[in-house]
Amino acid sequence: MQISDHARQLHNRAIIVDAHNDTLVERHARGDTLDVTERDEAYHLDVPRAIEGGLTCAFFMVGSSKIDRMMTLIDATISIAEAHPNVFRYATSVAEIEQAKVDGALAVVGQLESCTCLNGQLSTLRNVYRLGVRVVNLTHGEGGEGTTQQQASIFDYAAPEDREAARDLPGLTDFGREVIAECNRLGMVVDLAHASDASFYEAIELSQTPPIFSHGAVFAQSPHWRGLTDDQLRALADAGGVMGMAFHPKFIDREHATMERLVDSIEYVIDLVGSDHIGIGADYDGMGSNVPIPSSVDRLPEFTEALVQRGFDDEIVLKVLGGNFLRVLREVIG
Ligand SMILES: [Zn+2]
Repeated sequence: MQISDHARQLHNRAIIVDAHNDTLVERHARGDTLDVTERDEAYHLDVPRAIEGGLTCAFFMVGSSKIDRMMTLIDATISIAEAHPNVFRYATSVAEIEQAKVDGALAVVGQLESCTCLNGQLSTLRNVYRLGVRVVNLTHGEGGEGTTQQQASIFDYAAPEDREAARDLPGLTDFGREVIAECNRLGMVVDLAHASDASFYEAIELSQTPPIFSHGAVFAQSPHWRGLTDDQLRALADAGGVMGMAFHPKFIDREHATMERLVDSIEYVIDLVGSDHIGIGADYDGMGSNVPIPSSVDRLPEFTEALVQRGFDDEIVLKVLGGNFLRVLREVIG
């Protein structure tokens, strides 16, 4: 795709935030080195290509089910930042993200994707905060004993009536409610991606700070459980939250995912709730053999070009690229 001068300038100016990245955990699963600073085309993201693609900040998934793996991934993240400060920063504040932009480095924010690794202990959540993690995804879909929600979420396509009925199912567990309260107190972002519909609505009511849905989609565009319904998008917007649009083809369109269809989802959210509640949650290296759009992080300028071609104002493009997530981060983590 040809990138126009205008899109290129806008892209270079933007603080670009990707609210969900699985590269580290995927490297761990494949038994590869966790050092993401070397170019490696076997993955969707590495630091050289992130910088080339203009990405300013990525939320790195550093913990989900097992506490020992979480400790390994947090250590890897901090160790990379210590070894490569010129290109990689472990950020715990918006000021550090802004400084990374100035310095041409990638800022990484630590993110849990499930609270199962906390083993039911808020003390572990506090320790995770002390280790710099600032975004807490309540669940990776699991439910029941020791998790944040009473019933597991479904990962499949759905009919609209299924979504209606799901609102009234059991939602959060007591532990889930306590995690939200502790995140609010500590200054950690509550992330509702993967939550069941019932948990989603309950968490939105409970959280005193704007929640995010770090990597999701638009149910009206692709009828998957991971997509937010119109009601959910309105509820998230009312709470001041932001949804990151995943670059996962199945979430973009059930049949034929294209860049145009990706932008259709962005436009749909903007038409429904305004331009303050949508961003990027690419989910790079978190979708198995599915090919994301854009297919790797160095091709991010193609997304900006597509937004510009759709006719959005510069101000809206900047908000979608990262301004909206930056606003929530500023409000919640400082
Ligand atoms: Zn996920």
